[in-house]
Amino acid sequence: MKINSQCMLGVLLGAAAIVGGCAISADSPASKTSAATWTAPADAALAAKAITAPALLNHISILASDDFEGRSPGTRGETMTTDYISRQFIQLGLKPGNPDGSYFQSVPLVGTLSKPTLSYTVAGKTVALKPNDDFVAWSPRLESTVSIRNSEMVFVGYGVVAPEYGWDDYKGMDLRGKTLVMLINDPAIPDPKDPSKLDPNMFQGNAMTYYGRWTYKYEMAAKLGAAAAIIVHETKAASYPYEVVRNSWGRENFAVKMTGVHPDFPAVPAWMHLDRTRELFRASGLDFDALKKAALSKDFKPVKLGAVANFEVKNTWQDVASKNVIGMIEGNDPQLKNEYIIYTAHWDHFGIDETLPGPRTNQIYHGAVDNASGVATLLEIAKAYRALPTAPKRSIIFLAVTAEERGLLGAQYYAQHPLYSLRKTLLNINMDGINTWGRTRDVAIVGLGKSTADDVVARIAAGQGRGVVAAPRPEIGGFYRSDQFEFAKVGVPVVYTKGSDSYIGKPANYAAEKADDFVAHSYHKVSDIVRPDWDLSGAVEDVQMLFLVGLDVAQGSSYPQWKPGAEFKARRDAMMANPAR
Ligand SMILES: [Zn+2]
Repeated sequence: MKINSQCMLGVLLGAAAIVGGCAISADSPASKTSAATWTAPADAALAAKAITAPALLNHISILASDDFEGRSPGTRGETMTTDYISRQFIQLGLKPGNPDGSYFQSVPLVGTLSKPTLSYTVAGKTVALKPNDDFVAWSPRLESTVSIRNSEMVFVGYGVVAPEYGWDDYKGMDLRGKTLVMLINDPAIPDPKDPSKLDPNMFQGNAMTYYGRWTYKYEMAAKLGAAAAIIVHETKAASYPYEVVRNSWGRENFAVKMTGVHPDFPAVPAWMHLDRTRELFRASGLDFDALKKAALSKDFKPVKLGAVANFEVKNTWQDVASKNVIGMIEGNDPQLKNEYIIYTAHWDHFGIDETLPGPRTNQIYHGAVDNASGVATLLEIAKAYRALPTAPKRSIIFLAVTAEERGLLGAQYYAQHPLYSLRKTLLNINMDGINTWGRTRDVAIVGLGKSTADDVVARIAAGQGRGVVAAPRPEIGGFYRSDQFEFAKVGVPVVYTKGSDSYIGKPANYAAEKADDFVAHSYHKVSDIVRPDWDLSGAVEDVQMLFLVGLDVAQGSSYPQWKPGAEFKARRDAMMANPAR
């Protein structure tokens, strides 16, 4: 779903912003821990050489060709793609990754088209809002009409419960059947030492946390039994304008198929335009800006608006039967083979849009970078593992997931229906879009500082003569926009990296120019194709690094851990305390 929400965009925009000097953490904890003397074991270093630029390019060229029809879930393009990946797995000598003996995990999806209405009544006056212009709303319920009548509207601030910050916006209020009105992003608390900045000790300062994402807001509303949740759209806090909300939510919405109550969404999730929200609050005799300010305090309590909401959502839907592709290398240690490192890359993209002008090739979303390149990476890493003289101690799983572009759905499905114990899954390494512009001095970690896996990345990167930096613009939440997020959410530590902006032998503005150009002309467009001027030398180093990181954990004696303050630590700790999982 949500073109606004997915994969590489955050990181690309970040590269564009770097000239402004907003990235860089050469003095970050991760780079300090890097041991410049580390070298890969000889066998591993040799196996890493199996990863080559021509092989990456070959896989990308095939997957991004017209024949694969843009790889949309549920289409002929899906069959072509999943067949290709499973055949490659077989050729590489991977075992079927599904314990049922196949290379596939079925992922039932549903695409829903919703036509919503919304009105509210306050002080005896009813105001009807205009769909799309004033609000967007849909329903994940597979019911032709979803109605919410006279649901009391409650402003719940940021809607956050974060025990690590002693934060609870709900204060135990019973919100069943209510319509929650919530702010986007996480609480922007000024730094007591310098009010022009955000407090680095609260919600990771300027960086967006899980609590700031719209997915979190709707999950909380569902958990609390609310009937509907309206997120107030604000351009800066959301990091995209209202038009993006209107365009991406006004269309078909995809979800993992389930009947009845959806655990991640209330019956009606919605967004509302800021101007309309101010009017609603004014009609309720309240001041939106004053309440927004009040929501920056731990003492904030939900505020009843004295208004009721009426929603009606007319739904039509279609089933989409899709698949994850999964292969594995069984560990060679009798005990440790029951522990896992899982590599992921999404195989899907946006298919064909026949309304676009020109010849057929101009209608196909080729998705060469996004994410034929990630799938190519997955296959090359599997090749490197197979080039080792013996399998690693722990088992390695290779998972090509579906429907990332529709909302991380294939990864979400795997995380909810894991084929191997998540408790015994030590690490997820995700690949979404490779660097096609040459070698970089550093590796950029998306979500740097969340887990000790960063230290492994720093050590291996140092062995390549490279440093580690934070991926720029953490405030737009790149960490939450690709498949590793679904693993993090269920507690599994993750690694998600990018080439940094520090291109070797290029001018300072090179990264920004390339990123601006990609975002303007290729990102999520039919023109995301293989380019003759690509330089995959940096990608090869990145992919070799990811191979060595997984291998290090597969052979090592310590489990990657979430660091204190990471949103997912409590979940992992609970999981590890329960040996039944
Ligand atoms: Zn994408």
